[in-house]
Amino acid sequence: MYSDLYKGGVFISNPYPIDDVGIKKTTLPNKVILPLNERMTEKATPCVKVGDLVLTGQVIASNDDFNSVPIHATVSGQVTAIDDHLIPHKSGFKTQCITIQSDGKDEWVKDENSTKDYWKYPQSLLIEKIHYAGIVGMGGAGFPTHIKLGLSQNCSTIIVNGTECEPGIMCDDALMQNYPSQVIKGVEILLHICGAERAIIAIENDKPDAYNSLLINNNNDRISIAHVPTKYTSGSEKLLTKTILDKEIPSGDFAIDVGIVCLNVATVKAIFDIIIEGKPLVSRIVTVTGSGVSKPYNYEARLGSSFEDIVSLSSPNKLKHDVRMGGMMMGIDVPSTDVPISKTCNCIFINNRVAKDTARECIRCGSCNQACPVGLLPQQLYWYSKSEKTDKAVEYSLFDCIECACCSYVCPSNIPLVEYFSFAKALHRNTSEEKRKANIARERFEYREFRLERNKTERAQMMEAKKKAIKEKMAKEKSQKDKITKAMERVNTNKKNKINE
Ligand code: SF4
Ligand code: SF4
Repeated sequence: MYSDLYKGGVFISNPYPIDDVGIKKTTLPNKVILPLNERMTEKATPCVKVGDLVLTGQVIASNDDFNSVPIHATVSGQVTAIDDHLIPHKSGFKTQCITIQSDGKDEWVKDENSTKDYWKYPQSLLIEKIHYAGIVGMGGAGFPTHIKLGLSQNCSTIIVNGTECEPGIMCDDALMQNYPSQVIKGVEILLHICGAERAIIAIENDKPDAYNSLLINNNNDRISIAHVPTKYTSGSEKLLTKTILDKEIPSGDFAIDVGIVCLNVATVKAIFDIIIEGKPLVSRIVTVTGSGVSKPYNYEARLGSSFEDIVSLSSPNKLKHDVRMGGMMMGIDVPSTDVPISKTCNCIFINNRVAKDTARECIRCGSCNQACPVGLLPQQLYWYSKSEKTDKAVEYSLFDCIECACCSYVCPSNIPLVEYFSFAKALHRNTSEEKRKANIARERFEYREFRLERNKTERAQMMEAKKKAIKEKMAKEKSQKDKITKAMERVNTNKKNKINE
């Protein structure tokens, strides 16, 4: 058990607990809608067209950019559309998606290059296979896993993050209870890929069943399983590293920069699926919870199936709902349940719509300062963000804010602090970008002025030189003329003198 090594954070118990944290496998969806750009990756280009027949696990879109991951068909069937569709984004954003009508057979593409005996293969080949499988960080960040692993050579420790990001989310707990041997094998694959000495699987201390399941299945003495305090936000990469290893990750750096690879437990299971089973990422476990459903639960759903497909299994009531992807603290509000499940969708909150408490004046109680797990001063950040003095907010480490919303949660005045910080960051980025553009425009203008001035001076000097040359030429010609005239006069004088003689 690790002690509480960082200050701040908040203790929030699961508002909608359930007795058995299981997983229901959903039936195959009739159709799936697969966006061409997942979070944090470049847009992929379709390699299928409308009418094509596809198999489950077949690549249907990809991109030459190494930072992107391919997109796979998540059911077998026929491509029926490639067009814009609403995706889970708070802006109500539409993006190009591929729609596949399922044939109900779920026929899989064959894995031609089995890597079951993974220890025989070089790390680079396994990383390539993980890239091909389209695996990204499934804890919510969505960072492509092959890039992280590509940077992981000579790292000392792997941390497998089995702490749920937020209260109410149960998908990682369910995964560890239901797939413990796969998680352990996935960690062994990672030890081989990264060459790390050890791996630590971190689990919150209110999840004894997940802890015991992994313990029973672990026979590898390089893998340990650790209980960490159940405190929000223990699951953040920096805070987990601090809690487990008592190691600080400097501002602006990531765990990988200090020789630690930190991966979510669902990402590790996805690595097992591709390396051992030859299956790319086509499904994920999603928690459905909130005040608007009477049966919160976890579902293993195909990517691209709609929120509605699985929300309907949790007995939603008939009231009006707010829909949120991710947790109650850091999740994002989405416009409806008619959006597809993505790789980073760990939870769908369905909440009865209620009037929000209005924000009041700050009473300078300092609660937000105590709650901040990163050691920032949210009260100060609030004043500077509110008055749009973003340079000052940056001086107070605005960009170290992980937007965990602990400060907003404890604020007795209901001030949506995290929204101010998110706005201030965007404003500062825009202002910096505008300043950068303005600087470039000013530099161009000044250079143009300098160039025009230089041309003018050069032209004037040239004209002066020309004038001088003409003058000199004329003077020379005149002197020559004078010489000739004088010579002629001398000749004539001589002639006259000779005649007179
Ligand atoms: S949202 Fe930012 S300022 Fe507020 S508690 Fe979290 S890290 Fe601190
Ligand atoms: S918690 Fe709210 S009221 Fe208290 S100091 Fe922070 S912003 Fe002000």
